[in-house]
Amino acid sequence: MTPQIWFLTGSQGLYGPETLDQVADQSQQIQRMLTAGGLVADLVGKPVLTGSAAIRDVMLAANADGNCIGVIAWMHTFSPAKMWITGLDALRKPLLHLHTQLNEALPWESIDMDFMNLNQAAHGDREFGFIQARLGVPRKTIAGHASDPGVLERINRWARAATGVQHLRTLRLARFGDNMRDVAVTEGDKVEAELRFGVSVNTYGVNDLVERVDAAGDDEVDKLVAEYADAYELAPELARGGDRHDSLRYAARIEAGLRRFLTDGGFGAFTTNFEDLGGLRQLPGLAVQRLMADGYGFGGEGDWKTSVLLATIKAMAPGGRTSFMEDYTYHFGPGEPKILGAHMLEVCPTIAAGTPRVEIHPLGIGGREDPVRLVFDAAPGPAVVIGMSDMGERFRLVANEVDVVPPDAPLPKLPVARAVWKPRPSLSTSAESWLTAGGPHHTVMTAAVDSETLRDFATMLNTELLLIDSSTNVNDFADRIRWNQAYYRLARTL
Ligand code: MN
Repeated sequence: MTPQIWFLTGSQGLYGPETLDQVADQSQQIQRMLTAGGLVADLVGKPVLTGSAAIRDVMLAANADGNCIGVIAWMHTFSPAKMWITGLDALRKPLLHLHTQLNEALPWESIDMDFMNLNQAAHGDREFGFIQARLGVPRKTIAGHASDPGVLERINRWARAATGVQHLRTLRLARFGDNMRDVAVTEGDKVEAELRFGVSVNTYGVNDLVERVDAAGDDEVDKLVAEYADAYELAPELARGGDRHDSLRYAARIEAGLRRFLTDGGFGAFTTNFEDLGGLRQLPGLAVQRLMADGYGFGGEGDWKTSVLLATIKAMAPGGRTSFMEDYTYHFGPGEPKILGAHMLEVCPTIAAGTPRVEIHPLGIGGREDPVRLVFDAAPGPAVVIGMSDMGERFRLVANEVDVVPPDAPLPKLPVARAVWKPRPSLSTSAESWLTAGGPHHTVMTAAVDSETLRDFATMLNTELLLIDSSTNVNDFADRIRWNQAYYRLARTL
């Protein structure tokens, strides 16, 4: 189902019915421009709003409508803003204030008061900006003509963020086992997460999963093994007739069981923990990688916060290049410093540069049979990494704009999928800032949405985002952390 954005046009009764008909007509022209420009959601126009009862009704209807991901508001004419107070106060969906007007060029020779009347958002929207600021309504403001591709792209970023929020509101996450013992950053307040984000996070005994894995039918396993042979390059020992084909079949059995568990329970995200594998014979690798590619959130070592973020960002750009990631090791030089990111096994093949290989290798931890996994290098290009920490009184997002690059040389002995990147503005500034912010070692890496989208997302959730980008300076960043601490403490209601 294509998500909907509702388009609200503000005016007032003072102008009379003839003018209000023109307002409605011009609003539809703006909406057609946005749709023709490639808006990523269906735009649903609502009747011109001229009174507080109608405004409150449309806001309450937006809250209640499961297809509505957000609301765009534009004050075509002067819409005295006291009529917006109770409606804006009631609105619980993301809000975008589009500051535009129908006419692009001023008709200098012919301009008269009729033209002025129909193109007065310049002050009409200022009245609306005031009331939003006065009420403290979280919103994004975009100024420009509706035909400008740059304006449309920024609206689309907001729409993608709103799609993520919509997914997050009803997300259910299954944890197989608890967190890795003694790890601090993967802990967090699951009650606060459900209140703030909507996501429901619950733990299941891993042997509940093992039951589904053991119950998977041979036909299901055959089908998956055939899919693997089609989609990937199989190591000969794993192929049909190979010495270790049974290990591949067991990996397929894990995938079948895991899919069944998640589908039956309506889960969109999950976690595993190598310390708690119950009756599983392999640490789930290939299965986790393929489920991530289908849009499921995942976090290793019980890391439900990263799993939540991954599922959410996947929903913003379905099929896009987005993966679970971990900052693993550094290249300080020679040449430009870089980070090599990977995990024990679980990197999503949507970020792969070429066809992934299915391989089997020993794993030093977990104490189980050798796990099957996809191995590949990540495709080069700009990306963002983002992680979530629980600071005790609130959640904090930390993000870094990065450039994924090819490895300096092939990595023939590294038996896991990996990404190599240069963090902006430099490895030292990025790492010093990240550590100062208390950002986690697990992240989501995405090339499918950019940092503006993530900022819109953080605004919609009233959640702190500290962004490290090409303009970051360590001292200013440390100051921002201090100010934010004060701000979020003051802004919190008792
Ligand atoms: Mn890890």
